[in-house]
Amino acid sequence: MSADIGLIGLAVMGQNLILNMADHGFTVCAYNRTVSKVDHFLANEAKGKSIIGAHSIKDLVSKLKRPRKVMLLVKAGNPVDWIIEELLPFLEKGDIIIDGGNSHFPDSNRRYEELTKKGILFVGSGVSGGEDGARLGPSLMPGGSPEAWPEIKDIFQSISAKADGEPCCDWVGPAGAGHYVKMVHNGIEYGDMQLICEAYDIMKRVGGFTDKEIGDVMETWNTGVLDSFLIEITRDILRFDDVDGTPLVEKIMDKAGQKGTGKWTAINALDLGMPVTLIGEAVFSRCLSALKDDRIRASKILSGPTIPANLITDRKQFIDDLEQALYASKIISYCQGFMLIREAAKTYGWELNFPSIALMWRGGCIIRSVFLGEITKAYRTNPDLENLLFDDFFKNAVTNAQSGWRKTIAMTTTYGIPTPAFSTALAFYDGYRSERLPANLLQAQRDYFGAHTFRVLPECASANLPLGEDI
Ligand code: NAP
Repeated sequence: MSADIGLIGLAVMGQNLILNMADHGFTVCAYNRTVSKVDHFLANEAKGKSIIGAHSIKDLVSKLKRPRKVMLLVKAGNPVDWIIEELLPFLEKGDIIIDGGNSHFPDSNRRYEELTKKGILFVGSGVSGGEDGARLGPSLMPGGSPEAWPEIKDIFQSISAKADGEPCCDWVGPAGAGHYVKMVHNGIEYGDMQLICEAYDIMKRVGGFTDKEIGDVMETWNTGVLDSFLIEITRDILRFDDVDGTPLVEKIMDKAGQKGTGKWTAINALDLGMPVTLIGEAVFSRCLSALKDDRIRASKILSGPTIPANLITDRKQFIDDLEQALYASKIISYCQGFMLIREAAKTYGWELNFPSIALMWRGGCIIRSVFLGEITKAYRTNPDLENLLFDDFFKNAVTNAQSGWRKTIAMTTTYGIPTPAFSTALAFYDGYRSERLPANLLQAQRDYFGAHTFRVLPECASANLPLGEDI
């Protein structure tokens, strides 16, 4: 039997994607460096399904239909390069290598260049949704050699999640664009999570809400504009008790870990000069949380305002304002994320499919939400949309949410509750809508100490004060 696709890497993601492909009628050939895992998989999870195994790379390649499609779900980094090296002697021009791991996009750019020179097609695909997504329908973000897309489209769109009947998978763009978009997705995920955590903290510290009460708020929010996977799981987490009947979440050490994709997004935003402040704050918030020992010491030394008991007299208004603050901040985060992707498209010379990017995130992935349906609509109405805030739906949503957003941040500032993501979102909004910022003074300072020169406002230029160079 020859297989439609070969898959290398039988850890959780690889196994689940193979089972998903088999469920959709494709024959898959499985291979893993530790070959005993192939035999174990065939004898157990894969039993009775259209899945065959290979005991070497050569064996795998010999069992594939042409053009051969080989998908890698192995540890990101050097292992991807090593496997590509092993594959190359057995592949022919026009064969396709797909890297479905969490590779950094510069690596995918490099692999695309190297393989293109050899006549091999390369696809770097973001895969989101974790192990359940892989098994039941992930969000897939493929990019790379455009000629590869017609060959893999059927498999990819069949196994992906569906939102309103449409596959959460489409061609993203050339070279490392697929992994780039996955990176920004992960950055946005950092932002969404931080915003929800800040809302929880405000309800607890200012409102005196119990975890169960916050879970109930999440349940209500999940039926409105904030309807999303992350709000849904937060509801469940807050309702989950340990064996002693108290909320488990309160026993968890408040030090956040990170694997690096949020940091990659923030670094890339700095490289491209894009003010993606919310993701940046979300990454730094994890860094601040990790300084637990310092914080314990500082909490005993440094003072702040006291939160009065019974500060909140109208709980409904408090929650409504908070919902608005969360919604508006989330809009800003996505607006910043899309600004970054737009700038990347310009900088790297990629033609990107914006409506499809939003649709790919609409289902199957961690940031899936009803809200992404509105972003898809906005980009379908105007694929060249310069900024999400210029779309009527989002402009009106932010305008309507402003009062609650400002009230919430005024309160947290007054009473010393840290809300870095909420606050930076509002600061960005106020900066973005300011025709004039104090950067005139900053330029004067730079010129004063460093002779950096400055550009004059066109209406103020004169013989004595020439226009100057644009920056
Ligand atoms: P993983 O733990 O990242 O990697 C384990 C797999 O990589 C095993 O098949 C292992 O083979 C193979 N491997 C490691 N080093 C190798 C080498 N030098 N040569 C050949 N094979 C090597 O597996 P995973 O969690 O299933 O993730 C796979 C990829 O998907 C990763 O890039 C990950 O970041 C990405 N991803 C994961 C998730 C998730 O929720 N887990 C979600 C999205 C994306 P052996 O069995 O021989 O050790």
